[in-house]
Amino acid sequence: MKSLLLFLAGVLVGANVVYFLVTGQCLAPGTRQPDAIAFPTTRPAPASKPPAVAGTPAAVASAPASAVQAQAPAPVALSPPVTNSVGTGPLGLLLPVAGIAASQLTDTYADARGGGERTHEALDIMAARGTPVLAASDGKVAKLFTSALGGLTIYEFDPTGTYAYYYAHLDHYAPGLADGQPLKRGDVIGYVGSTGDASPDAPHLHFAIFALGPEKQWWKGTPINPYPLLSAQR
Ligand SMILES: [Zn+2]
Repeated sequence: MKSLLLFLAGVLVGANVVYFLVTGQCLAPGTRQPDAIAFPTTRPAPASKPPAVAGTPAAVASAPASAVQAQAPAPVALSPPVTNSVGTGPLGLLLPVAGIAASQLTDTYADARGGGERTHEALDIMAARGTPVLAASDGKVAKLFTSALGGLTIYEFDPTGTYAYYYAHLDHYAPGLADGQPLKRGDVIGYVGSTGDASPDAPHLHFAIFALGPEKQWWKGTPINPYPLLSAQR
């Protein structure tokens, strides 16, 4: 009886060693996933928010061997990872409202809007009605668009089609502005107003930045906080 117990103990120890070796080998592909940088070219439209990454290192490490093997071929991140710090978004942006200094900005990116049902994901730059709105970057007019919330708006693409800039609540456009028009950083493209759902008592430019997906659709992208990119200016 005693020898049988010793035999069983030996089997268990051996199985643990095998399990450790197997899981050790399987961790390598799994741990790459969170770091994978993907602007997928064949994948359909990415969601507007990055999905939770399945199979984090901690989850993989504590999972049994069979689960680890099942997770190994999981797809990489669905959306391009975009962090909201200087160095990961577009650099060299012009603060897009004439006469406003970076020190006057307030970070309203994470504020609740629509009664708490959505996040602002943009910067509100307060300024007097009629203040010129400037192109933050070289690029082109991707779309002039009027919406219930944004009012009179402009979508600009940068020259590489990597980022879109969104200017909303405009009082009016610069004369002659048209879809497809090339823009230079600093060009006057419109004027501050309160069209859409902005309060008439508080005219401002609603300014947003999106990292465009591979389809380069003007209405779709991953939002980036403009505040650190604009407030880093002198
Ligand atoms: Zn806004």
